[in-house]
Amino acid sequence: MEPELPRPEAPHFWQAVASTPGGESIIVCLRCEACTAVCPVEALEPKFSVRGTIARVRKGRRAEVLTDDALWACTRCFACDASCPSHARPGEIVAALRHLSLEAGADGLGPRHALAFVNGVRDRGRIHEARVWMESAGLAGLFREGFRPLEMAWRGKGPSLRSRPIDSITDVRRILAAGGPR
Ligand code: SF4
Ligand code: SF4
Repeated sequence: MEPELPRPEAPHFWQAVASTPGGESIIVCLRCEACTAVCPVEALEPKFSVRGTIARVRKGRRAEVLTDDALWACTRCFACDASCPSHARPGEIVAALRHLSLEAGADGLGPRHALAFVNGVRDRGRIHEARVWMESAGLAGLFREGFRPLEMAWRGKGPSLRSRPIDSITDVRRILAAGGPR
């Protein structure tokens, strides 16, 4: 008797991705691997595969994809989009998966880093490097760095923790409320 194939955990997951901005073209992926061939991150982060990520979506492996830390290794260089013969926009699909991952409550360095950027824009209208770093790495990250932040501050290299909002912050918040980052 043939062994029974495991049932996909979320067979319609690709439809949720296709309904998310950036993920609309996932259905036209030909699985040709052109995206993987040009992705500069895959050479540095073996756990990340743009073509493999899309394949797992199509196989309905929702939880595995949305909790994958490697999803956050993509640098959004879009070399993959430029090389895709099917115009599936694989880099945008990865971005859509990140949105879904955040909506599903993902935690970790990558999700916290992304949220730190969004929070900075919403709160002050600009990015504050020190705050992004602290919100991303947290106390554990601070301890991992040892005395380096203190040394930088001592040498006048540490950015001020104070950062006042830009003058047009109300406009920025209005834009975000009308449909900015999800
Ligand atoms: S996303 Fe494009 S380049 Fe990547 S496997 Fe699919 S068709 Fe090929
Ligand atoms: S956009 Fe992301 S997935 Fe695409 S080539 Fe660049 S790093 Fe790789």
